[in-house]
Amino acid sequence: MSISAETKAFLLESIRNVPDFPKVGVQFKDITTLVGSPKAFKAVIDHLADRYKNANIDFVVGAEARGFIFGAPLALAIGAGFAPIRKPSKLPYTTAGEKYALEYGFDEVQIHIDAFSAVKNAKALFIDDLIATGGTAEASIRLIERVGAKCVEAAFVINLFDLGGADKIKKLTNFYAILDIEGD
Ligand code: AMP
Repeated sequence: MSISAETKAFLLESIRNVPDFPKVGVQFKDITTLVGSPKAFKAVIDHLADRYKNANIDFVVGAEARGFIFGAPLALAIGAGFAPIRKPSKLPYTTAGEKYALEYGFDEVQIHIDAFSAVKNAKALFIDDLIATGGTAEASIRLIERVGAKCVEAAFVINLFDLGGADKIKKLTNFYAILDIEGD
Protein backbone atom coordinates (compact mmCIF):
# COMPACT_ATOMS: atom_id res chain seq x y z
CA MET A 1 0.00 0.00 0.00
CA SER A 2 2.65 2.54 0.97
CA ILE A 3 5.44 3.54 -1.37
CA SER A 4 9.04 3.23 -0.22
CA ALA A 5 11.25 6.27 0.40
CA GLU A 6 13.63 4.83 -2.20
CA THR A 7 10.90 4.66 -4.89
CA LYS A 8 9.77 8.19 -4.01
CA ALA A 9 13.32 9.49 -4.39
CA PHE A 10 13.59 7.69 -7.75
CA LEU A 11 10.30 9.24 -8.94
CA LEU A 12 11.36 12.71 -7.79
CA GLU A 13 14.57 12.36 -9.77
CA SER A 14 12.62 11.30 -12.85
CA ILE A 15 10.59 14.56 -12.92
CA ARG A 16 12.22 17.41 -14.83
CA ASN A 17 11.92 20.94 -13.48
CA VAL A 18 11.58 23.52 -16.26
CA PRO A 19 12.02 27.07 -14.94
CA ASP A 20 9.92 29.93 -16.36
CA PHE A 21 7.46 27.73 -18.31
CA PRO A 22 4.84 28.63 -19.50
CA LYS A 23 5.65 32.03 -18.02
CA VAL A 24 8.37 33.70 -15.98
CA GLY A 25 8.35 32.61 -12.35
CA VAL A 26 6.65 29.21 -12.83
CA GLN A 27 8.69 26.10 -12.02
CA PHE A 28 7.03 23.62 -14.37
CA LYS A 29 7.10 19.99 -13.19
CA ASP A 30 7.53 18.04 -16.42
CA ILE A 31 6.26 14.45 -16.09
CA THR A 32 7.22 13.47 -19.67
CA THR A 33 10.58 12.38 -18.28
CA LEU A 34 8.80 10.22 -15.68
CA VAL A 35 6.49 8.45 -18.14
CA GLY A 36 9.37 8.12 -20.60
CA SER A 37 11.03 5.81 -18.07
CA PRO A 38 9.28 2.39 -18.12
CA LYS A 39 10.48 1.76 -14.55
CA ALA A 40 9.16 5.08 -13.18
CA PHE A 41 5.86 4.93 -15.10
CA LYS A 42 5.26 1.36 -13.90
CA ALA A 43 6.11 2.28 -10.32
CA VAL A 44 3.41 5.00 -10.34
CA ILE A 45 0.71 2.84 -11.93
CA ASP A 46 1.55 -0.23 -9.81
CA HIS A 47 1.39 1.85 -6.64
CA LEU A 48 -1.93 3.49 -7.52
CA ALA A 49 -3.40 0.16 -8.70
CA ASP A 50 -2.41 -1.40 -5.39
CA ARG A 51 -4.03 1.47 -3.50
CA TYR A 52 -7.35 1.33 -5.39
CA LYS A 53 -7.72 -2.31 -6.50
CA ASN A 54 -10.18 -3.17 -3.70
CA ALA A 55 -11.96 0.20 -3.55
CA ASN A 56 -14.77 -0.80 -5.94
CA ILE A 57 -14.07 2.16 -8.22
CA ASP A 58 -16.40 2.17 -11.24
CA PHE A 59 -14.72 5.03 -13.12
CA VAL A 60 -11.32 6.67 -13.09
CA VAL A 61 -11.82 10.28 -14.20
CA GLY A 62 -8.79 12.00 -15.71
CA ALA A 63 -8.31 15.73 -16.33
CA GLU A 64 -7.05 16.83 -19.74
CA ALA A 65 -4.38 16.21 -20.74
CA ARG A 66 -1.84 14.75 -18.33
CA GLY A 67 -4.55 13.16 -16.19
CA PHE A 68 -5.28 10.91 -19.18
CA ILE A 69 -1.72 9.56 -19.18
CA PHE A 70 -2.05 8.19 -15.65
CA GLY A 71 -5.82 7.65 -15.57
CA ALA A 72 -6.20 5.30 -18.52
CA PRO A 73 -3.64 2.65 -17.47
CA LEU A 74 -4.87 2.89 -13.87
CA ALA A 75 -8.48 2.28 -14.97
CA LEU A 76 -7.42 -0.85 -16.87
CA ALA A 77 -5.32 -2.08 -13.96
CA ILE A 78 -8.18 -1.87 -11.44
CA GLY A 79 -10.99 -3.00 -13.76
CA ALA A 80 -12.70 0.41 -13.93
CA GLY A 81 -13.94 2.47 -16.86
CA PHE A 82 -12.29 5.74 -17.84
CA ALA A 83 -14.07 9.09 -18.23
CA PRO A 84 -12.32 12.21 -19.58
CA ILE A 85 -12.74 15.74 -18.24
CA ARG A 86 -11.82 18.25 -20.92
CA LYS A 87 -11.51 21.92 -21.74
CA PRO A 88 -14.59 23.56 -23.38
CA SER A 89 -15.73 22.48 -26.86
CA LYS A 90 -13.61 19.33 -27.01
CA LEU A 91 -16.17 16.67 -26.07
CA PRO A 92 -18.57 15.78 -28.92
CA TYR A 93 -21.78 14.87 -27.03
CA THR A 94 -23.89 16.96 -24.62
CA THR A 95 -21.74 18.26 -21.76
CA ALA A 96 -22.02 19.71 -18.28
CA GLY A 97 -19.49 22.39 -17.37
CA GLU A 98 -18.03 23.94 -14.26
CA LYS A 99 -16.25 27.29 -14.32
CA TYR A 100 -13.44 28.14 -11.93
CA ALA A 101 -11.50 31.28 -11.17
CA LEU A 102 -7.95 31.84 -12.38
CA GLU A 103 -5.63 34.62 -11.30
CA TYR A 104 -7.05 36.67 -14.18
CA GLY A 105 -10.45 35.54 -15.47
CA PHE A 106 -12.07 32.10 -15.63
CA ASP A 107 -11.50 28.66 -17.04
CA GLU A 108 -13.91 25.77 -17.43
CA VAL A 109 -13.90 21.98 -17.34
CA GLN A 110 -16.51 19.81 -19.06
CA ILE A 111 -17.72 16.22 -18.97
CA HIS A 112 -20.32 14.24 -20.93
CA ILE A 113 -23.65 14.33 -19.11
CA ASP A 114 -23.98 10.53 -19.39
CA ALA A 115 -20.37 9.73 -18.42
CA PHE A 116 -21.49 7.55 -15.49
CA SER A 117 -24.98 6.50 -16.59
CA ALA A 118 -23.96 2.88 -17.18
CA VAL A 119 -23.56 2.37 -13.41
CA LYS A 120 -26.14 3.35 -10.78
CA ASN A 121 -24.56 5.29 -7.88
CA ALA A 122 -21.17 5.07 -9.58
CA LYS A 123 -18.00 5.52 -7.52
CA ALA A 124 -15.39 7.70 -9.22
CA LEU A 125 -11.71 8.35 -8.59
CA PHE A 126 -10.40 11.67 -9.90
CA ILE A 127 -6.78 11.76 -11.08
CA ASP A 128 -4.40 14.40 -12.38
CA ASP A 129 -0.63 14.63 -12.64
CA LEU A 130 -0.30 17.61 -10.32
CA ILE A 131 -2.24 19.79 -7.92
CA ALA A 132 -1.18 23.41 -7.44
CA THR A 133 -3.91 25.83 -6.26
CA GLY A 134 -6.54 23.09 -6.57
CA GLY A 135 -8.89 25.07 -8.82
CA THR A 136 -8.95 22.48 -11.62
CA ALA A 137 -9.47 19.55 -9.27
CA GLU A 138 -12.13 21.31 -7.19
CA ALA A 139 -14.18 22.16 -10.32
CA SER A 140 -13.67 18.62 -11.64
CA ILE A 141 -14.92 16.99 -8.43
CA ARG A 142 -18.02 19.22 -8.40
CA LEU A 143 -18.62 18.26 -12.02
CA ILE A 144 -18.27 14.53 -11.33
CA GLU A 145 -20.86 14.77 -8.55
CA ARG A 146 -23.22 16.94 -10.65
CA VAL A 147 -23.46 14.27 -13.34
CA GLY A 148 -24.30 11.59 -10.82
CA ALA A 149 -21.20 9.85 -9.46
CA LYS A 150 -19.69 9.92 -5.98
CA CYS A 151 -16.07 11.08 -6.07
CA VAL A 152 -14.50 8.88 -3.40
CA GLU A 153 -10.95 10.23 -3.70
CA ALA A 154 -8.80 12.65 -5.71
CA ALA A 155 -5.29 11.38 -6.48
CA PHE A 156 -2.25 13.21 -7.79
CA VAL A 157 1.29 12.19 -8.66
CA ILE A 158 2.60 15.56 -7.40
CA ASN A 159 1.26 17.93 -4.75
CA LEU A 160 2.81 21.41 -4.77
CA PHE A 161 1.99 21.49 -1.09
CA ASP A 162 2.63 25.14 -0.28
CA LEU A 163 0.03 26.30 -2.82
CA GLY A 164 -2.83 25.05 -0.65
CA GLY A 165 -4.72 22.89 -3.16
CA ALA A 166 -5.02 19.92 -0.82
CA ASP A 167 -7.05 21.91 1.73
CA LYS A 168 -9.65 22.78 -0.93
CA ILE A 169 -9.98 19.16 -1.98
CA LYS A 170 -10.23 17.78 1.57
CA LYS A 171 -13.48 19.78 1.99
CA LEU A 172 -14.98 17.77 -0.87
CA THR A 173 -13.44 14.30 -0.83
CA ASN A 174 -10.41 12.26 0.27
CA PHE A 175 -7.06 13.53 -0.92
CA TYR A 176 -3.99 11.52 -1.92
CA ALA A 177 -0.68 12.52 -3.50
CA ILE A 178 2.35 10.32 -4.09
CA LEU A 179 4.94 13.12 -3.93
CA ASP A 180 4.94 16.41 -2.03
CA ILE A 181 7.07 19.07 -3.68
CA GLU A 182 7.59 22.69 -2.72
CA GLY A 183 6.04 24.90 -5.41
CA ASP A 184 7.86 28.16 -5.96
P1 AMP B 1 -4.32 24.10 -10.21
O1 AMP B 1 -5.71 24.21 -10.78
O2 AMP B 1 -3.73 25.41 -9.83
O3 AMP B 1 -4.26 23.09 -9.08
O4 AMP B 1 -3.39 23.59 -11.38
C1 AMP B 1 -3.39 22.23 -11.71
C2 AMP B 1 -3.29 22.01 -13.20
O5 AMP B 1 -2.33 22.84 -13.81
C3 AMP B 1 -2.88 20.58 -13.45
O6 AMP B 1 -3.59 20.07 -14.55
C4 AMP B 1 -1.38 20.66 -13.72
O7 AMP B 1 -1.01 19.75 -14.72
C5 AMP B 1 -1.15 22.12 -14.16
N1 AMP B 1 -0.04 22.77 -13.42
C6 AMP B 1 -0.16 23.81 -12.55
N2 AMP B 1 1.03 24.18 -12.05
C7 AMP B 1 1.95 23.37 -12.61
C8 AMP B 1 3.38 23.23 -12.48
N3 AMP B 1 4.12 24.03 -11.69
N4 AMP B 1 3.98 22.25 -13.19
C9 AMP B 1 3.26 21.44 -13.99
N5 AMP B 1 1.92 21.51 -14.16
C10 AMP B 1 1.26 22.46 -13.49
